[in-house]
Amino acid sequence: MTFLTVQGLAARYGTIDVLSGIDLSIARGEILALIGPSGSGKSTLLRTLVGLIRPHAGHVVLDEERIDYGSKASLKRARDRFAIVFQQYNLFQNMTALRNVTIAPTIVKGRARGDVETEARDLLAKVGLSAKVGAYPDELSGGQQQRVAIARALALKPDVLLLDEVTSALDPELVTEVLDTIRALGREGMTMIIVSHEMGFVREVASRVAFMDQGKIVEIGKPDRIFDAPETERLKDFTAKIL
Ligand code: ADP
Ligand code: MG
Repeated sequence: MTFLTVQGLAARYGTIDVLSGIDLSIARGEILALIGPSGSGKSTLLRTLVGLIRPHAGHVVLDEERIDYGSKASLKRARDRFAIVFQQYNLFQNMTALRNVTIAPTIVKGRARGDVETEARDLLAKVGLSAKVGAYPDELSGGQQQRVAIARALALKPDVLLLDEVTSALDPELVTEVLDTIRALGREGMTMIIVSHEMGFVREVASRVAFMDQGKIVEIGKPDRIFDAPETERLKDFTAKIL
């Protein structure tokens, strides 16, 4: 059963095509990893799915709802159904971890603060930060801040969580705790599309891996197939450099 279908998605910056003809089909609970050289369009694909960039062609069907991205309303709908976490977590420095998680649901969605706080505490517990609910970002490590950012994204109750190089800005000793959090979300059945340079992690957690180059998906398959039996020269070159 397909949960998320992407058909013919294409985006450009100015006159330069940075995504073309992106087709994808993802089951509920799948973890799809996007790999590929710098500039291949991985971030653009995630930003387009969440409605931050308006594609000039294509559409998405998510759990039988079609999102065509052509109108403000559909871009807003995309932001309801996808949530994205970036490399730079950008927490509000003057707010506690708890408030960082509750602010969007209360202010943007207008939900009752009490309900949202209860959920936010559960989410912070889920990412291993029960003891840091009242801490400010500058009292937290980079790994802890990134986990607050993940909790903040989950507070929006997305159908699909998009993670764009969420460990790339972290000191090596802090990477594991964030990867553990992602692994746990996967076990709970969260559907995710992740961009990561942690190839060991990708191989372990991804249900499938898509290799992108020059704005296209060049190969897609199970991790072992992609890493051990690349079919195209481009993927062979890429894996030879990174593995
Ligand atoms: P990746 O995440 O795979 O490194 P990106 O999606 O960031 O790739 O970039 C894809 C292409 O789009 C690159 O050629 C990049 O230079 C270009 N690009 C990214 N962001 C912008 C922007 N804001 N304006 C113009 N070009 C951009
Ligand atoms: Mg990127």
